[in-house]
Amino acid sequence: MTMQDCLFCKIVRKEIPAAVVFEDETVVAFLDIKPVNPGHVLVVPRAHAADYASTDDASLRDIAVVAKCVGQAVMRSLQAPGFNIGVNNGRAAGQLVDHMHLHVMPRFEGDGYELWHGKPYAEGEMQEVAEKLKTALG
Ligand code: 5GP
Ligand code: ZN
Repeated sequence: MTMQDCLFCKIVRKEIPAAVVFEDETVVAFLDIKPVNPGHVLVVPRAHAADYASTDDASLRDIAVVAKCVGQAVMRSLQAPGFNIGVNNGRAAGQLVDHMHLHVMPRFEGDGYELWHGKPYAEGEMQEVAEKLKTALG
């Protein structure tokens, strides 16, 4: 897929309509068409990157700061007592649109959504996994 075909690049370039709630030189934020709750916002870098893992650090900082402001705004203007920030990185994680985006999802008491459920490690597995990650991150 080229940037020419990318859905969110088209939104960034204003080639297709979106309910844009904030934009600056590096970031655009607009309403998700299928919200978890009204006010669910997608925060995207103007510069195309396929997913979180391949986004440059400066763009990640920019969208994180805008996501904070959007979160504050949904609490203030939509009376949401909380919000979730989400990223789906890769098909296995539920990513459908291959242009990096942070979800900012207003949350209300009793809105019916649940967070993921944890499962326990097998004997010795936690140390093994920690070692692999430490090596990869070292
Ligand atoms: P993902 O699963 O890739 O993290 O999330 C993609 C999100 O983009 C979904 O929540 C979906 O509702 C939203 N979306 C898909 N197509 C469009 C569109 O054309 N316009 C807007 N505003 N949101 C879209
Ligand atoms: Zn794109």
